[in-house]
Amino acid sequence: MKLWLREHRKSLIDPETFVRRGWMDARALALSEQIKAKLRFRIPARFAERLDQGDVALMRQFVPQVEELRSHPCEITDPIGDEAFAPVMGITHRYRDRVLLKPTYQCAVYCRFCFRREKVSHSGFELKGQELEQALAYIKTHEEIREVIFSGGDPLTLIDARLSELLAGLAQIKHVALIRFHTRVPTVLPSRITTELIRVLRSVPQTVWIAAHINSVSELDAEAQAAISRLVDAGIPLLHQGVLLKGVNDSTEALAELFWALIRLRVKPYYLHYPDLAQGTQHFRVPLSQAITLVQGLRGVLPGYAVPQLIVDIPRGGGKVVVEKSMAEEVSQDHWRFTSPITGEIHEVRYEDC
Ligand SMILES: *Cc1c(COP(=O)(O)O)cnc(C)c1O
Ligand code: SF4
Repeated sequence: MKLWLREHRKSLIDPETFVRRGWMDARALALSEQIKAKLRFRIPARFAERLDQGDVALMRQFVPQVEELRSHPCEITDPIGDEAFAPVMGITHRYRDRVLLKPTYQCAVYCRFCFRREKVSHSGFELKGQELEQALAYIKTHEEIREVIFSGGDPLTLIDARLSELLAGLAQIKHVALIRFHTRVPTVLPSRITTELIRVLRSVPQTVWIAAHINSVSELDAEAQAAISRLVDAGIPLLHQGVLLKGVNDSTEALAELFWALIRLRVKPYYLHYPDLAQGTQHFRVPLSQAITLVQGLRGVLPGYAVPQLIVDIPRGGGKVVVEKSMAEEVSQDHWRFTSPITGEIHEVRYEDC
């Protein structure tokens, strides 16, 4: 069996283990029985040592917490409207030019804040046979679709043969110019980034992008860095997306350290998501106003291309919104007021009749 598959199967899925290793207390174990009824657990074995050392960023993201059982009235099961915008099984079509294609709900790790947390816990689902044909037919008959975004679940948990099959289907569709993978695999299961996988990803005529989900430098150890380098060296451009999480990365220092590490690895910070209103995730949210200030604070300490956009996905499928405090205000026609990002001073500028 391939090394990455062996490592994937060795990941820790039993809450008893989490308690025995001291990551979770016994009270949480009792409650985890209730959580278990709804949600899955999976922690890559490669993180075990750092969890033993009490790494908070990994602990908060992956070890179950009693707070997950608290549902708040504002929280919903399908927070960004996946279902409402699904024309056929496995596809979400919300923007005209691009679709999400979800071939699996398996992940290499189960994140406690995931907005598809109930979904990914039904990992039996795999898009194949007739359902896959229908999804491909949908893309084929909608010529406005120029980009197919693999999401899930984690599409890179599929074996090479399945990925080849999916990509071969898309290779035939002329109007699809771009294929994007949203994945957590480069850092949580880096052994998956094999020469063979890279060959499969490069086998299509389309341009392939990867958006890697990473939330802390704890995930970026030497092995993960090497996996990222293999992808970039092979000519695959990498974007980064993360989630702003209380107790994990909710400080200017933690975010700056993460984005700095990423640009050094040739990964472009793209989106920093404000946590969606998934059930039992309230303990991960900081006030949105604080999130805006945090991201704005990065402008002073990082190169411009290291600063991602802060994103809110409007609940129930309204789409993604870039959230920022405006530094430009139109006072009257062609008369603007700018706030200096360096000094905070106000500058009045007239572009006409000056
Ligand atoms: C997030 C998302 C996309 C991708 O949006 P980008 O802004 O291009 O990254 C596409 N479709 C759906 C349904 C999404 O939720
Ligand atoms: S890897 Fe992605 S889809 Fe899977 S649990 Fe984590 S956030 Fe959710």
